Amino acid sequence: MKSWAEVYIPPIYSAITFPQLNLYNTATQSKEKLPKKNLYQMYVCGITPYDATHLGHAATYITFDLINRYLRATGAQVDFVQNVTDIDDPLFERAKRDNVDWSQLATSQIELFRGDMVDLHIIPPKDYIGVVEAIPMIIESISKIEKSAPTYVVDSDLYFQVHSDSDFGKRSHLSDAQMFEIFAQRGGDPSRIGKRDPLDALLWLNQRDGEPGWDSPFGKGRPGWHIECSAIAMHYLDDGLDKQYSIDIQGGGSDLIFPHHEMSAAQSKAISGKEFARSYVHSGMIGLDGEKMSKSKGNLLFVSKMVNEGTNPMAIRLALIASHYASDRMWTSLLLEDAQELLERMTIALSREEVAPTKPVIEKIVRALSDNLDTPTALEAISLWCDETLKGSKGGEAGELSRAIDTLLGIAI
Ligand code: ZN
Repeated sequence: MKSWAEVYIPPIYSAITFPQLNLYNTATQSKEKLPKKNLYQMYVCGITPYDATHLGHAATYITFDLINRYLRATGAQVDFVQNVTDIDDPLFERAKRDNVDWSQLATSQIELFRGDMVDLHIIPPKDYIGVVEAIPMIIESISKIEKSAPTYVVDSDLYFQVHSDSDFGKRSHLSDAQMFEIFAQRGGDPSRIGKRDPLDALLWLNQRDGEPGWDSPFGKGRPGWHIECSAIAMHYLDDGLDKQYSIDIQGGGSDLIFPHHEMSAAQSKAISGKEFARSYVHSGMIGLDGEKMSKSKGNLLFVSKMVNEGTNPMAIRLALIASHYASDRMWTSLLLEDAQELLERMTIALSREEVAPTKPVIEKIVRALSDNLDTPTALEAISLWCDETLKGSKGGEAGELSRAIDTLLGIAI
């Protein structure tokens, strides 16, 4: 599937030293320094295209864009892959509700999503893969699981026995009872009669009336959600060189920790015999004015709508990184106003001929980002530099700081 347009990344002041990126790993519940490498593999779960980008999506993709930007600035290559869940229950339900063809709905929302990513300055993935186009590799992955791990059929639907992975549940740190509850809330089927274990994951769903189906050795139907990401990530990213992990970073919002990432990881392990990701990284949820933002509440704010109404996408990006990526946080009009105000001060300060010293502030930004993407500290350093500059302090080079802010934070002034 076509990715989106490249984002220009200016060269950065070369004398800077980049500490190893220290990231919080959900699986180990601790901050871990990524080892120094020339090539990192990062997989970030994409949207189900019944809607385009709401602010929660934007926050997630900005988080992994910051990781991508930091690692690239150190001189490394980042192979970044993202999927589009263009076959899924919510997509079929929305298409049915609106009486539109599901594939046309998906195509229109994916196009909108690409535009939002460009507006938000997200570096595009090297491979942007829809599930429809990945069916052959998903079938191949399921066939491999059938050979290496226990699977079984319930009314023509194929399941994977998740507890065949002895680490199942350890990445999300949940008990079986907690997993049961969350699984039911997030589209799982723990109460289905005939399952050997309530948590077992659906690999292949037999074709239902009015839904698309593809021929496979397991019957005509479609893949389950979790196997899609295992198959796509391993196909496009696992070069087989690392004997311990398939990829370096598995990313997404914290609502994907369970069941999605736990199940994808268990299935990948059944295929490869190794742990799926070195690091499982999750961004927090974005609420609106004190409430959880969700499709059921109908209070989602969409990036494209805000931009069409005149909001500068750079102000949206700045507002979303004003708090730490891992924290659940609220979107308010005040947050956006503060971001717009900072953006304006940055624009004025950076356009001055004489500016406050810039090397120390660039070093502060780099240090803050290296510590689990501490964007609030980075922005505070920029804000103080603006104050110093506007008070008349001299000795810096505006272009140097402007390029660093663009390269590292994705904020183009
Ligand atoms: Zn995924």
